Amino acid sequence: MKVTMLGCGYVGLVSGACFSEFGANVTCYDVDKNRIKKLLRGEVPIYEPGLELLLKKNIQTGSLKFTDNLNGCIPTSDLIFIAVGTPTRRGDGHADLSYVFQAAKDLAGLLNDYTVIVDKSTVPVGTARNVKRLIVENNSSADFDVASNPEFLREGNAITDFMRPDRVVIGVENKRSEDVLKKLYGPLNSIGTPILFTDLESAELIKYASNAFLATKISFINEISILCEEVHANIHTVAKGMGLDTRIGNKFLSPGPGYGGSCFPKDTQALIRMAQEHRASSRIIEAAIEVNEIQKARMIKKIRDALGGDEHDKTLAVLGLTFKPETDDMRDAPSLGILPNLIENGCRINAHDPQGMDEAKDLLPNEVCYFTNIYSALDDADAVVLMTEWEIYQNLDMNIVKEKLKSPIFIDLRNVYQPDKMKLLGFNYYSVGR
Ligand code: NAD
Repeated sequence: MKVTMLGCGYVGLVSGACFSEFGANVTCYDVDKNRIKKLLRGEVPIYEPGLELLLKKNIQTGSLKFTDNLNGCIPTSDLIFIAVGTPTRRGDGHADLSYVFQAAKDLAGLLNDYTVIVDKSTVPVGTARNVKRLIVENNSSADFDVASNPEFLREGNAITDFMRPDRVVIGVENKRSEDVLKKLYGPLNSIGTPILFTDLESAELIKYASNAFLATKISFINEISILCEEVHANIHTVAKGMGLDTRIGNKFLSPGPGYGGSCFPKDTQALIRMAQEHRASSRIIEAAIEVNEIQKARMIKKIRDALGGDEHDKTLAVLGLTFKPETDDMRDAPSLGILPNLIENGCRINAHDPQGMDEAKDLLPNEVCYFTNIYSALDDADAVVLMTEWEIYQNLDMNIVKEKLKSPIFIDLRNVYQPDKMKLLGFNYYSVGR
């Protein structure tokens, strides 16, 4: 099958590489010509474990190609996936669909034989039908169907998530397009992956409802962690006790500095806008967002209190900037909400991150100093904050940490270390919800 992937970001590149691994003939296109140039040179523009190898393998076999020319791939495609960004629209919190609609317009005039055009981007209900309308407006004789196939991969684990997903959700208009998508996803069907065919609207909403539910779970446990601190309960014991109930499940019950990343913040906002437009209630999601903001503010206070009530003229070593480990994605990372506030109050930041520093330089205030060596970031710092639980931060040599710090203050926003052990090692140790 011939597949064109529009968009070579986290979702487009991973999906393109994985579909080629399934046996499809994939061409990936991006409007960013520099990105395509890099890919053609064999460079991978994002950090995602395993992606470089998978790209290389499928490029070599000839089943994966990159192009900056749509004429060469659209007319012969059986399927075209739209995997472009849908960021928050400035000013109103709605999903910005301009990239999706531009992609639809770009491809419309080039359609030839029957093609299925699939939204893989996270898009509000009604978008697939709007894409259809746009294509008809631009090419009234085109033979095509639209479908909605939202993506559930997690950055940092994206290839495994794509190759072994919990489920695949596909919204279709008719049997003809369903059959084409069934064939593409045949390799997943054959290993028993549940493939849920739905109408277009339900598929679009499943994605938002899932992300909003997960964000709510995080906010829920973060809110319980506040109570834990007040009543001297341990959030991990509480979460374990809750999670053993199979109706609740043990995932997404880890407290931290609040959720972030390229999906939860924008998708919860977009779902609220969608609900407002349809005069439906979204109070639980509104509360989840509010609790997330409160959590970030609490982390600022936690750091300030650990520094003796004032961060002015203090130096903070910050380990981890990305919203989670194993990605270079800095979009809406909690560090972007927490660090500028401290800097504004006169705090100096020495930062380290294994993959996110290049991206962070454009997003954090210029005052931040970046270090490629973890322990150099700690030199003469008044305290250290563990912001993201990268594996390399999980076995720090605490003797060196103590030696480097001006005072042994360790603020662990991911609860990586054990409070009693850290106390024994002589640290003033602060964590979340215990
Ligand atoms: P991204 O920003 O990493 O990549 C988007 C790419 O699309 C960019 O390279 C951009 O240049 C390109 N693009 C923009 N307009 C284009 C056009 N008209 N034609 C071709 N390319 C175009 O975005 P992403 O993180 O891959 O997310 C893509 C979509 O998938 C979003 O809707 C997102 O919500 C959703 N999603 C993301 C994740 C994730 O973890 N990143 C997971 C599931 C779903």
